[in-house]
Amino acid sequence: MPLDLIETLSQLVAIPSVNPMGGSAAGARFGEARLTEYLETLFDRVGLNHQRQQVTPGRENIIARLDGDRSATDGGRLVLLDAHQDTVPVAGMTIDPWTPTIRDGRLYGRGSCDTKGGMAAMLWAIARLAEERPPRMPTVVMTCPVDEEYGFTGVQALSELWQGDSERIIPRKPDAVIVAEPTGLGVVVAHKGVVRWRCHTHGRAAHSANPAAGDNAVYKMARVLEAFQRYAEKVVGQVASHDLCGPATLSVGTIRGGDSVNTVPDLCTIEIDRRLLPNEDPEKAYRHAVDYLSRQKEIDFPVDHEPPFLQGLTLSDEDNGVLADRLAAVVEEVTGQCRRVGVSYGTHAAFFSAAGVPAVVFGPGSIENAHTDDESLPLDELEQAAEIIYRFCRG
Ligand SMILES: [Zn+2]
Repeated sequence: MPLDLIETLSQLVAIPSVNPMGGSAAGARFGEARLTEYLETLFDRVGLNHQRQQVTPGRENIIARLDGDRSATDGGRLVLLDAHQDTVPVAGMTIDPWTPTIRDGRLYGRGSCDTKGGMAAMLWAIARLAEERPPRMPTVVMTCPVDEEYGFTGVQALSELWQGDSERIIPRKPDAVIVAEPTGLGVVVAHKGVVRWRCHTHGRAAHSANPAAGDNAVYKMARVLEAFQRYAEKVVGQVASHDLCGPATLSVGTIRGGDSVNTVPDLCTIEIDRRLLPNEDPEKAYRHAVDYLSRQKEIDFPVDHEPPFLQGLTLSDEDNGVLADRLAAVVEEVTGQCRRVGVSYGTHAAFFSAAGVPAVVFGPGSIENAHTDDESLPLDELEQAAEIIYRFCRG
């Protein structure tokens, strides 16, 4: 049965699915469970095969499939549409996050832009395909993973589903993936990745009345910071640049040192965020920074770099050209124009790409309206996005 697009988005927004951001998923507003429930009911109504996949207790991906004319394991094509279930938290919002409100052609509410708008467009498209069953339609799988906004654990579990026997809900590795995120109807073909690590300087504690008896770890870190700033400004930005994503960057984001004002601190810790260009190796980027620091004359003491605690993958436009051409042609057909863009933020597309599946990012709404205290989505873009995804899948 067909879906009402705006009503579907309203229902998605009205169901809290806040990512616990590393905390507990307990509590009615946190975790994706209620949205998973809603999607399961919707997939039943539309008449699709579906399956849940537990990622952590209480947090489940849900996957649905509409079979094409030809089985995907017998020469038929397999297109995957991906839209994450979670949203960022709502603290500080100036609108009621879960009472979807339409004003001046926009729908307001948490998740409207990131990324329930894209999800609604995909649900609408797959429901219409199920109703019409156009000839030569590919098999279309829709994946709705948990935990995009914090740990990427949901998307990492998905590839298990296409490995092994063909009775699975994703019968084989897909031919193409569209990942829903607010791209303003541009086709995102490349994005940066990230490597993050902590670094410490050590000293010796002493009473601050007699600082000469100690060795101040914060003073040492000051010299490390100056070196990092020089490295960020003079080295990282110059090594290479991507024509769509711009230069690589480095930023020191946090610093902690000392326990009390009357003690010479024996430890200081910073956290470093290095944004990677498409295809740049996180391990090499980390190693390059560590080596640079070790060559600076003024740093005549040991600096203790932990191994990276986070590595976010990149998306390269070298791996998705044919898919991007096809999607861009459909976008142009519907809107009269199409931009191919590179962005700085990470997405699920990088994980599909790393698994060898061409992937692009596409959806209604602007990233400027995502995560904001009055998040909203323009409804004309929502309608265009739904039509584009429908036409793309119809082939
Ligand atoms: Zn998102």
